[in-house]
Amino acid sequence: MYYCCEEHVELAIDMIVDEEEVAPIMEKLEIEKQLSTTCDYCTEKAIYKISG
Ligand SMILES: [Zn+2]
Repeated sequence: MYYCCEEHVELAIDMIVDEEEVAPIMEKLEIEKQLSTTCDYCTEKAIYKISG
């Protein structure tokens, strides 16, 4: 599972597809959760959770 910002959504999706070989599930985080979660690929706040 990855948390990512708007910019890194496609990267996270690619990683799930590569690793899990399943269609990724993309969920938008609640505002409070966005503020307390950091993107796995940069220092921006995370907007989405991508899971397999
Ligand atoms: Zn990012």
